[in-house]
Formats: sequence, C-alpha cells, structure tokens
Amino acid sequence: MLTFLEARQLVLEHITPLTPGTVALDQALGLAAAEDLRAAEPVPPFTNSAMDGYALRASDGRDASDTIPVRLPVTGGLSAGNIPKGALQPGTAVRIMTGAPMPEGADSVVPIEHTLNGADWVELRKSPKLGANVRRAGEDISLGGLVVGHGTTLRPGEIAVLAATGFAQVPVFHRAKVAILTTGNELIDCGMTPGPGQIRDANIHALAAQIRAFGGIPVFFPRVPDDRERVDTVLAEALASCDLLLTTGGVSVGDYDFVKPALEAAGAELVFWRVAQKPGGPLGFWMLNGTPVFGIPGNPVAAMLMVEEYVRPALRKMMGHRFLHRPTRRATLDQPWSKSGPDGRVHFLRVVARETASGLRAALTGPQGSGILSSMLCANALAVIQETDLALAAGESVLLHLTELAEDH
Ligand code: AMP
Ligand code: MG
Repeated sequence: MLTFLEARQLVLEHITPLTPGTVALDQALGLAAAEDLRAAEPVPPFTNSAMDGYALRASDGRDASDTIPVRLPVTGGLSAGNIPKGALQPGTAVRIMTGAPMPEGADSVVPIEHTLNGADWVELRKSPKLGANVRRAGEDISLGGLVVGHGTTLRPGEIAVLAATGFAQVPVFHRAKVAILTTGNELIDCGMTPGPGQIRDANIHALAAQIRAFGGIPVFFPRVPDDRERVDTVLAEALASCDLLLTTGGVSVGDYDFVKPALEAAGAELVFWRVAQKPGGPLGFWMLNGTPVFGIPGNPVAAMLMVEEYVRPALRKMMGHRFLHRPTRRATLDQPWSKSGPDGRVHFLRVVARETASGLRAALTGPQGSGILSSMLCANALAVIQETDLALAAGESVLLHLTELAEDH
C-alpha cells in the first residue's frame, strides 16, 4: 500500500495548472500571479516631501543653532497634487506638504514642528540633515523592478503594490471549479429531519466550505443514491462541468460501494486506491479525460482530512500557486495517545496548537475516533503520527501541519 507522502506526490504529478487569464485587480485577492509582474514606472514616480514642512537647501541652514537661528524667506507653498512653479532660489525656502513634489534645487525638508515660522519666513534652530524627509523617485520600487513573481499568492500587500504600479488588470490563474458528489442512501439534506436509518449530509457542506476557503469554486451536485446507474449518470454530468471532481462515500469494499466500479467503467485511469493512513485509508485517485477525480471515503472526518491533505495542494497547483503546503512545526503533545495495535499507517490527529513560554504545544481536541466529527471543532492543526509510532507519551514531540496558516513551503 502507498504511504501518505507517496500518494500525495502521485496526485501532484498528475495535476497541471489551469490556463491563466486576466482579472480586475479587485478580483485578484487570493489568486496566484500568472507572470512575473514588473513595475512599468518607479514608485514614488517623483521625488517628494515625506513631511509637512519647509523644502530648502541643507547648506543654507548649516549654521543654525539655538543661540543663532537662521531665518529664510518663504517664497511659496506646495501641497500634494501641485507642481512647483520653478526651482528653489538659494537662500530661500518653500512651504511644502507631505506628498508634494520637491522643487528643483531643494534637497531637504525641515518639519514644521522643528521651526518657528511666520507668513513669509521660517526660522531654523538646528542645521538640517542633507536629504532629510525627502522620498526619492523610485526609492520604493525601481523602474522595471520585480513586484510580484510568477506563482505568488496575491494578498492585500501584493494588491497594494500592484495598484501603486498601475496594474488595473492582473494576469492570474483562475479559480478551479470543483464538483462535489456525495453518495449514500442514508443521506438527507441538513435542513430535513432524519427518519429511521437516515443521517444528514455533512460532507457536501464541509467540503464546499473547504474548497471555498482554499480559493476554489464548489459546484454542488444532487446527492447520489447507492445505485450504480445513478452513479454513472451523475459522474458524467459532473465531469462535464468541472476542473476537479470530488466524490464522497461508496469507495470502500461494501456491497453498495459503486464509485470505484463506475469510474473504472467510464474509462478512468486508476492512479491509486488505498493509502496506509488513518482516517482515510480507502482514498482513491483517478484521471478521467484529463480531469483529476478523488474518491474520498464518506466518513466526514476522513473526508475533511483527505481534502485538507491531498485536495488542497492539488487545487493550489492547479491554481498556479508556487507554494502548495501548509507550514509544519514540531510541538509537544499534551496528552498520551496510542494506536489499538501496529497497523503500518500514518495517523492524523486533530489538535489545538498554541504557543507557550516553553514552545509550541498541541492538545488533542477530544476522542480521535474517525466517527467523532466534533473532533474537528477548534482544531487548528493536524498532528501527523508516523507509521511506526504505536504510542506517544504526554510531553513527546509530534509533527504538526498548521491548517490555519497559509503555506510557506
Ligand atoms: P462510506 O464511505 O459510503 O462507506 O461511508 C462511511 C460512513 O460515512 C458511513 O457511516 C456513512 O453513513 C457516512 N457518510 C457517508 N457520506 C456521508 C455524508 N455525505 N455526510 C455524512 N456522513 C456520511
Ligand atoms: Mg456509503
């Protein structure tokens, strides 16, 4: 059986980025840049004042001191958005506001609060520092400088710099459309009251929320009963309208597990089925006419973990992001934990990670049975317990995937 890392690698090898396009800057948050974006202009575009004050030549105030102040005539005023009428005459000053272009010949700005001033004069009591309070053209971003690299995720900071450099439209990778099919005769809408033997369909909502949180577009399909013909029909419909297909349930070895045979009958190429992990062992992955298909076990905890650990990096690769994986850290486990016996499987435990004076600690969210959906409440990390670890004592170190933080590798 494949290991988790082998299986995840196989998934990623089968994923190719979607064709990029262009969106308005305000639609680009969270998407990945599809090209290296370089500044077509310097930022700031012109040399300007960093303070409300007086633009002058530092050398004109060289001899200023508390005992012998230097008084300069003020020949005019400049506010942001104005342009200087002419060059600064030696031995004079111009009153200037933050963001206004520096007049030619001026090399420094003395803040208002460091002066005594009148309507047409200013007095300095300290010699100004050459270049003080002046923002040079291009000191922030130089002409032609790389603003955002190919594959960089656009966060508010990147959006700000793209706006300042004139990218009203940005080349990005589009959001992937992810079809979600849930299967099972026992399932009903979450707004309904379960009859005998019925349960609410948690997965459709859980997975759609994950896909949205990861930047994709969930495409909902009507729930599929455990009926081979219905499975065949809905699979075909779903494939026609998505970049990636997720099915939940019906992928194990039960009498009514029709997803696997239906996919194979449709000509899907099996990449793998079953991974040495818990929860999520019967995970399957196929390629069908170029569309990746995940067959995810129905158990909601398993389903969400599989979407986090496999679908998320796949989706990120599809959406052109350079970094695919969550940050990892080691933490000290608060409670003891053990497997029921050697099973050769990686276990994913739901934990709350928190920084303490003695480093990062992880507390189990409660009982870790794969049927305990409430173990997802409050979890902000997954502890990944290696195949060979049968038991961990309280205080032992565990590897965490930090599922609330953006990716760093
Ligand atoms: P399966 O993978 O179809 O054998 O389902 C495994 C377990 O998960 C069963 O107890 C199912 O009732 C449950 N299950 C399957 N699909 C869902 C779903 N969409 N929402 C909630 N529970 C589900
Ligand atoms: Mg089922």
